Amino acid sequence: MRFQTEYDVIVLGAGPAGSAFSKVAARGGMQVLMLDKKKEIGSPVRCGEGIAEHSEADLGIMVLPQAVASRIDGARVFSPNGKTLCLKNEGTKGYVLERKLFDKHLAIDAARAGAHVLPHSLAKGLLVTNENKPCGVKVLHMGEEIEFRAPLIVSAEGMEAKLAREAGFDVKAALYDVDTCFEYEMAGVPCEPFIDLYFSNRLAPRGYVWVFPKGKDVANVGIGIGGSVGGNPKQLLDQFIAEHPELFKRSQPVEFKGGIISVGAPINEFVKDNFMVIGTAAHQVDPIHGGGIGLAIEAGNIAAEVALNAFESGGDYSKARLLPYEEAWTKKSGSKLAKRLTLRKVLEKLNDDDWNHIVGSINEEDLQKVMEGQFKSVVAKIVLTRPTLFKLLSALV
Ligand SMILES: Cc1cc2nc3c(=O)[nH]c(=O)nc-3n(C[C@H](O)[C@H](O)[C@H](O)COP(=O)(O)OP(=O)(O)OC[C@H]3O[C@@H](n4cnc5c(N)ncnc54)[C@H](O)[C@@H]3O)c2cc1C
Repeated sequence: MRFQTEYDVIVLGAGPAGSAFSKVAARGGMQVLMLDKKKEIGSPVRCGEGIAEHSEADLGIMVLPQAVASRIDGARVFSPNGKTLCLKNEGTKGYVLERKLFDKHLAIDAARAGAHVLPHSLAKGLLVTNENKPCGVKVLHMGEEIEFRAPLIVSAEGMEAKLAREAGFDVKAALYDVDTCFEYEMAGVPCEPFIDLYFSNRLAPRGYVWVFPKGKDVANVGIGIGGSVGGNPKQLLDQFIAEHPELFKRSQPVEFKGGIISVGAPINEFVKDNFMVIGTAAHQVDPIHGGGIGLAIEAGNIAAEVALNAFESGGDYSKARLLPYEEAWTKKSGSKLAKRLTLRKVLEKLNDDDWNHIVGSINEEDLQKVMEGQFKSVVAKIVLTRPTLFKLLSALV
């Protein structure tokens, strides 16, 4: 196979961030190469696969019917003693995806827009100019070393972010700011159209267990725990399963998944000369639940518009020309995620008794407010019946 080796932009990673960027950039006339080390884009999956329905309109994507494993009406939060809060309204509708198909479809869309897509291609290192500016990538494609060149490199590498690190970005996540996850896809689980989140410090320290239905009797059953609290997520998930025979007595795993995800702040800069970092590589992830698909696509879209502007005005990809991406993203999602990081740092200090008390003393309306970042009245309500939580919860108001 002969390769074109000169491009306007090389995109590292064909996850949601990389494909979103590539589609917009190629549609705008840039010569785009998007490569991924995976032989099959989208596989293996490391994800609970949940996404909000409004993401489609917000992000300008179309979720193919085949990529929807099930439709979701809302979310249920379970306290350690089994009390439940249920959120169900227009805004809580969503999908549990078949990400193998979803990611591949996003990459196909990018290819349709004109991007060159190259799976089975590991980006091994950066090529740099005499001034030490990135100008290309060394790639191992099916055993063959190839050098691709472009004046702009985009890291959409996910948590690994090896080349972003090589480019000088501080992408290393502290253990305190990651969740380590383990997940089974299981058959034989009775399912309702809700994503279920189980909070318990005993069973999921500084995290939660999720059950996301993928059909009437198939579900993603996973756990994320704080990276710094120690513990073995698989063992803890097995214990949860053993303690919930009403859900799992007839179930068996059909797939094992796992991974780590950032639940801290985004990295401190998203651009340098000739280089952009987008999606989970930039830690653009919700610190409460570790969701990052929508945020990755959002970042890909914003970054591509900025790259296109630079392309159209003569190909100056200096940091100053790329900075509008960082500014636009921070304005749109930065402050929202900062609030959610504060919430995470409060929630992680609650013991199981506090959790039981909180879930027992607030209602669905209160939970909705919390999700929207309006904490004041909810905190007042909780503190009224448990004044000892005042000091901790006052960080939210
Ligand atoms: C267990 C778990 C459960 C999750 N559940 C959810 C959920 O339910 N909902 C949600 O919204 N989010 C969830 N997330 C987070 C979500 O998976 C990520 O935020 C999302 O995939 C980010 O997209 P991305 O395109 O930025 O990165 P990724 O999807 O991680 O894509 C990065 C791509 O880059 C490729 N790559 C990396 N390095 C190289 C290299 N050197 N050369 C070539 N290719 C490379 C990888 O192969 C990969 O395909 C979960 C994460 C985990 C770990």
